[in-house]
Amino acid sequence: MRGVTHRITATREDGTVFEVSYGYGPGQRRLLGCRHCDWQERITSGGARHKGLDHLAQAHGALGSPRMTADAAARRQVLLIMLACFAAAALILWWAASQG
Ligand SMILES: [Zn+2]
Repeated sequence: MRGVTHRITATREDGTVFEVSYGYGPGQRRLLGCRHCDWQERITSGGARHKGLDHLAQAHGALGSPRMTADAAARRQVLLIMLACFAAAALILWWAASQG
């Protein structure tokens, strides 16, 4: 599919990521296309993301967030910061214990 502008992703329980491309097909028609089967849907009005997620859930059993893909990266960043904080706290505890 040419003219892809967005990717809608969903993750299955086993961690497999499924993706639906969204963009403009021939004649500037908006199209959703699954990368894992031959499913395609022409979009006439809004709800492209919802339709893509619907397909991923029904055909592939994958669940995605209705938010944009960029948010997933932001969530990962928050998770990394949290992990860093835990690591720092563990280090301080270990240091305090080793001083006693
Ligand atoms: Zn599919």
